[in-house]
Amino acid sequence: MHKTSKIILIASICAAAVLTAMNIAFRIPEYTAVILVCFAVSALVLTLVSIGCVKHFTKERIIRERENIIRIMQSLNTMAVLWSSDFRYIEANPELTKNIGYTSEDLSDMKTLQKVLPPDAFAPSLQAVINSRDEEFAVTAKGGAKVNTIWNTSIVSTIAGKNSRSCLMLSIGLDISETVRMKEELIKYSKELAESENRYTLSMGLSEIGLLLKEPGKTSYYISDQLMDMLGLNVPDISEGVLKARFHPSDIMTFNALQSAMVSPYSELNGSEIHSTEFRLLSSDNTYHWYQFRYKITPAETKLLANIGGAVIDVTKDKEKDSIIEKMAYIDDVTQIFNRNKFMQIGQETFECSAEAGQSYWVIVLDIDNFHIINDTCGYQSGNKLLADLGKIIENSVTEGGFGARIGGDNFALLIRDIGDDDLPVKIINHIQQEIKESCAQSFSVQTITCSAGYCKMSDGGKDFAQVLDRAEFSLSMSDGSKSNIIRYDNKIHDKIIAGTALENELAAAIENNEMVLYYQPKIDLSDGSLMGMEALIRWVKPDGTVVPPSQFIPVAENSMLITKISAFVLKEACRQNKEWQVMGYPPITVSINLTAVDFYQTDVKESIQNALNETGLDAKWLDVELTESLALKDIDHAIQQMKEIKELGVKLSMDDFGTGYSSLSYIQVLPITLLKLDRSFIMYLEEDEISREIVSAVIRIAKSKKIETIAEGIETIGQAEILKKSGCDLAQGYFFGKPMPADQFEEFMAMKASQKQEAVTADA
Ligand code: C2E
Ligand code: MG
Ligand code: MG
Repeated sequence: MHKTSKIILIASICAAAVLTAMNIAFRIPEYTAVILVCFAVSALVLTLVSIGCVKHFTKERIIRERENIIRIMQSLNTMAVLWSSDFRYIEANPELTKNIGYTSEDLSDMKTLQKVLPPDAFAPSLQAVINSRDEEFAVTAKGGAKVNTIWNTSIVSTIAGKNSRSCLMLSIGLDISETVRMKEELIKYSKELAESENRYTLSMGLSEIGLLLKEPGKTSYYISDQLMDMLGLNVPDISEGVLKARFHPSDIMTFNALQSAMVSPYSELNGSEIHSTEFRLLSSDNTYHWYQFRYKITPAETKLLANIGGAVIDVTKDKEKDSIIEKMAYIDDVTQIFNRNKFMQIGQETFECSAEAGQSYWVIVLDIDNFHIINDTCGYQSGNKLLADLGKIIENSVTEGGFGARIGGDNFALLIRDIGDDDLPVKIINHIQQEIKESCAQSFSVQTITCSAGYCKMSDGGKDFAQVLDRAEFSLSMSDGSKSNIIRYDNKIHDKIIAGTALENELAAAIENNEMVLYYQPKIDLSDGSLMGMEALIRWVKPDGTVVPPSQFIPVAENSMLITKISAFVLKEACRQNKEWQVMGYPPITVSINLTAVDFYQTDVKESIQNALNETGLDAKWLDVELTESLALKDIDHAIQQMKEIKELGVKLSMDDFGTGYSSLSYIQVLPITLLKLDRSFIMYLEEDEISREIVSAVIRIAKSKKIETIAEGIETIGQAEILKKSGCDLAQGYFFGKPMPADQFEEFMAMKASQKQEAVTADA
């Protein structure tokens, strides 16, 4: 009730009460009493009217205020809702209706409101709503889409007092959908980041890859946990000084190079490139480990300087493996000095640099004279010891900037820096020859070991190092066979090489023109003189009828790879011819072919042999492959493997020229051969030389004990044949029995042998 109405009402009641009391006390006349009562009643009526007016004015004010508020709401660009004090919806502004798609009228329906607001929005009491600040919830727009909002509610009108039910509340809301989306994305990304960081940390831990990073302007390097572990450090930032101190003294240059890359303006560098370097760092176990640093140089913010960073990987184990592999690939087993591969590699590098540096080198090639005699008389082990001794002598004879290696069997090579003294190579070779004599006099008392040499100057021409070495080797091969020969590469030798090249071209054409012809030499069974086999020997028959022996073109063919073509022809033709004679009715015999190291190591011999047999239809047991011992010794394990595979085909294997190579008798035990061919040099002096006879019979005995048949080649006299027969030699080959002859003559020979046999049978009968 309004204050004035209260006062009027209280005054009227008081007046009426006073008048009534006076009436009783002073006995006032009746009309006066009536007047007084009327007065009191009118006072009462006045009071009541006054209360009504006040009420009316209050309502008016509320309406006006509400309208004012609604007007203000219309102009707001945030969402706004006006509520009555009893939490009843009054009005929503256009921003809100636009956002949720309902009209203000729609919202006045409680059902719609319930759809829009989350259920818990109806739970709080008025007090709770008034007190709430930054209330966040999603409203449901028409169609079901969620709109994330944040609300603040306050009382905007308290016309009848704070605790009265007639106040108005205004809720102001903001659409925070975008913020919420961003927040959710942020959470998602953070989660993903955390996961990827975990994965990164895990993979870094597992992969044992450290990270090293240097940003310009900073004096320290950032190192990852993994690298800290690797180096035994406990802080992620280390100064240049600390890092440098960890570098192996020999790798300080690498450190300096990295440092200068960092201070180079970025524009001078190619940022997309991945660089790689290797260095040793003192590591957690207090030893130096090899690390590979794969890094990138990227522009720093200023673009003037560069960031440098990348992965640090411990490659110590790989390095160890590399050095073992390098050792296997480049160190000779017997002498423990470098082998031919390494000599070629260093030689080529030297060749390339020497021209630029205006420097020249001598290339010297040495060969031990008659090395096979050591092997044959003293055994394989002694031969190896001699090689090892010579290896040491060679190593000690190398002058500064030079290099020594074993480049094959009993061949050694030296690379010596030219100091302007043309006699230097001869001086060095003489020194080596003297050393061998002295050192070997102790080990091989019965023998005088000598060596011959060929040499040439690197700057005297040659397109590459291989050619320079060829020249030195060619000079050595020019040796007349005398001991301690020293031959320098000169014009005469040059002409011979040129002639060799001409021969090579001629030979290539001859192969194409089918000028290669096979001759056949008989192999005789010493027990009864019967024909048991033939050796196919190649001849080059020129169009004018000149017959060129193999000694004149096989070495050229071997050096130029023409040999593979020749061998393919020989294999096929020998099988074809043998099969043809068998088909013609001649008693079947074995045909032997000769293979070289090139055929044996560089092609798939087993497959070629199998193909030749298949194509010609010859049974494998009628084919024999002759290999020399020097061939087998080039790579003994590989040779044994190849020989086994050939033998598996059913083909026979013979060791040709036995006694001329490097091996000793004990050596043949490991080779899967069926026949041992004693070289002509053992046979030549059989009749007059007691020692030759002893050697031959000893070899035959040992071979028999190993169940290996023997054949003697180069038999020219009946005397030799008889001695061999007595010594137990199984087979024989030589001019005495028949020279190598063309196919038609050999056919006659076979016919003759067949009729001899027939006669013998008839006579026996
Ligand atoms: P080899 O395999 O040891 O062949 C035996 C050589 O000794 C043949 O020489 C043969 O004519 C010769 N000979 C045989 N009996 C006597 C004899 O009583 N007295 C003398 N003084 N010599 C005799 P040829 O045919 O000149 O062959 C020489 C070498 O050429 C062969 O030695 C073999 O290593 C090689 N050769 C021959 N034909 C081929 C072939 O088709 N392929 C390959 N890769 N090498 C072949
Ligand atoms: Mg032969
Ligand atoms: Mg031979």
